[in-house]
Amino acid sequence: MDLDLKARQRAASLNRQYQGVDSEEFLRALIEDEFPGKVAIVSSFGTESALLLALAARVNRDVPIIFLDTGHHFPETLAYRDVVQRRLGLTNLRTIKAAASALADRDPDAALWQFDTDACCSLRKVEPLQDAIHEFDALISGRKHSHGALRSFMPRIEAVDGLIKLDPIADWSPERVEEAYEALDLPRHPLISRGYRSVGCRPCTAPASDALDPRAGRWVGQNKTECGIHRAGRVEQGRSDPIERPALHAAS
Ligand code: SF4
Repeated sequence: MDLDLKARQRAASLNRQYQGVDSEEFLRALIEDEFPGKVAIVSSFGTESALLLALAARVNRDVPIIFLDTGHHFPETLAYRDVVQRRLGLTNLRTIKAAASALADRDPDAALWQFDTDACCSLRKVEPLQDAIHEFDALISGRKHSHGALRSFMPRIEAVDGLIKLDPIADWSPERVEEAYEALDLPRHPLISRGYRSVGCRPCTAPASDALDPRAGRWVGQNKTECGIHRAGRVEQGRSDPIERPALHAAS
């Protein structure tokens, strides 16, 4: 059967089965029953990322976590990634980068973001992710309806080009997220205290005063709200290679 059709049928079936099921129970079912060994979490290690990772770690600390290192991250984000990994005892963090040859070819001065942010996101995020997920049938992320724009009405389960995309905490409100951070004593991204609401790459992220918009400060002044990774599905293998897998930290 066509992979895309198969994924769409699976997504429809999962939607029927897990409609109304609590996020933690849903996450456990995805990791343990539905996609054992075939699901990964994609995390930006941004301002709300630790919550989904903490919930996943309660199920299985070995679940693969994919972090896309664009080369343009704030050093604070890289440090935060390591803090969260240690705190939660995540044993399978995979830091993925674009291939050096692709960067040399298409963005030799690391300045593509100044001229074409879509091309830069494709080169540094979307394509490396596509090349890193061939072993998986499903990807989990922490998008929420409260993020607004396209995320306001996204389904909790969908199929994109043969891959199942899952957002177990899609319906969590900012207040519920905050309560969970307190209850679980999760570390905060260091840039929150400097006025950042949402944190992506340094050139494309600014502090924001809009307390009502959790995505404020991203691609300011542009008609762009997403980098494109959440629309990334299956592609042919071999465009670039994941080149870094940091040493694993023991659980703390
Ligand atoms: S967010 Fe900005 S710097 Fe990061 S990959 Fe996209 S365009 Fe490039």
